[in-house]
Amino acid sequence: MNLRDPKKPFIIAGPCSAETEEQVFSITQKLAASGLVDLIRAGVWKPRTRPGNFEGIGHIGLDWMVRAGKEYNIKVATEVANANHVEEALKAGIDALWIGARTVSNPFSVQEIADALKGSNVPVFIKNAINPDLNLWVGAIERIQNSGIKKVTAIHRGFSSYQKTRYRNEPLWNIPIRLMQIFPDVPIMCDPSHICGNTEYIPYIAQQALDMNMDGLMIETHPDPENAWSDKEQQLTPNELIDLLNNLNNRVQSNNESDQYILDELRLKIDELDELMVNCLAKRFQVVEDIAAFKKHRNLTVLQINRWSEILQQRVAEGKALGLRAEFIVELLEIIHNESVLKQSQIINQPHQVNKIQTKNH
Ligand code: PEP
Ligand code: MN
Repeated sequence: MNLRDPKKPFIIAGPCSAETEEQVFSITQKLAASGLVDLIRAGVWKPRTRPGNFEGIGHIGLDWMVRAGKEYNIKVATEVANANHVEEALKAGIDALWIGARTVSNPFSVQEIADALKGSNVPVFIKNAINPDLNLWVGAIERIQNSGIKKVTAIHRGFSSYQKTRYRNEPLWNIPIRLMQIFPDVPIMCDPSHICGNTEYIPYIAQQALDMNMDGLMIETHPDPENAWSDKEQQLTPNELIDLLNNLNNRVQSNNESDQYILDELRLKIDELDELMVNCLAKRFQVVEDIAAFKKHRNLTVLQINRWSEILQQRVAEGKALGLRAEFIVELLEIIHNESVLKQSQIINQPHQVNKIQTKNH
């Protein structure tokens, strides 16, 4: 398994769940024959958020997967959520394991898995936790690495949120980007199936992952998605998967001299503009300080809602006229406005200093 092949993304595909012997053999045969898939996935223990859904076929599925893998000469992977799963999967001869989002959210479970993995050299894929907490993901990777496992790979599968958007799990790309900075040597893949929750946006998210220079994709693929026992809305047929993979543009981190020259020129411009932007922000916050001093003197409230609504409206219109998305302008202004309110409160409430905010790291 070469997880860092700059020419070709590493592809994991297969059903959400192993259902029957026939289903496992059929999907393994089709995906192996495509020549595009590096590793077959299927869950035999399914951690479902609510009871009453299909919770996996259990131990027997391991045997189907291992036999199908041998028959079609392809490696197979399954999800583990406790020490017992690890022992059974390894004993059955499963080639690689992954730890799911719900399990990564619980450090006790991750540690139990790490302890059970000691002495083995099985590759382990680690999804992000369901909630957007980078440190849970980092912690899980550290625990598994500390157990002596050398081949650890991260899988970005999006983050659950209360508000329902077009995605089942929001991609929040800045979180996997932070992970790449923390672990430059740990390959990272994307699971567009669990991000999207339906098949419609999978190609878009898959391409975006490759554009972010991710190392591979895990994509749920089922011989008959409509009748799948779990996650039926998001599974592709083998032909759909093949189509998708053939249409992905695998960009390279090109570094030939003329590319580098053009990029350097453009990056110089970006650097200059960023410097202007930072200077401009610093000036803006000097004005914020003057405003705060005045509000303190006159005993005025920090937030004046009409003024804030007016700013938003005007800036959105100005941005739009210059080709900037309204949502982007709103988000950006909200960040600036939050900082401005915080700064004003600090100045106005001195010496009480009620607004010292610290990032907690448990
Ligand atoms: C899965 O891969 O089928 C799964 C349950 O994924 P996640 O842990 O990302 O929800
Ligand atoms: Mn699934």
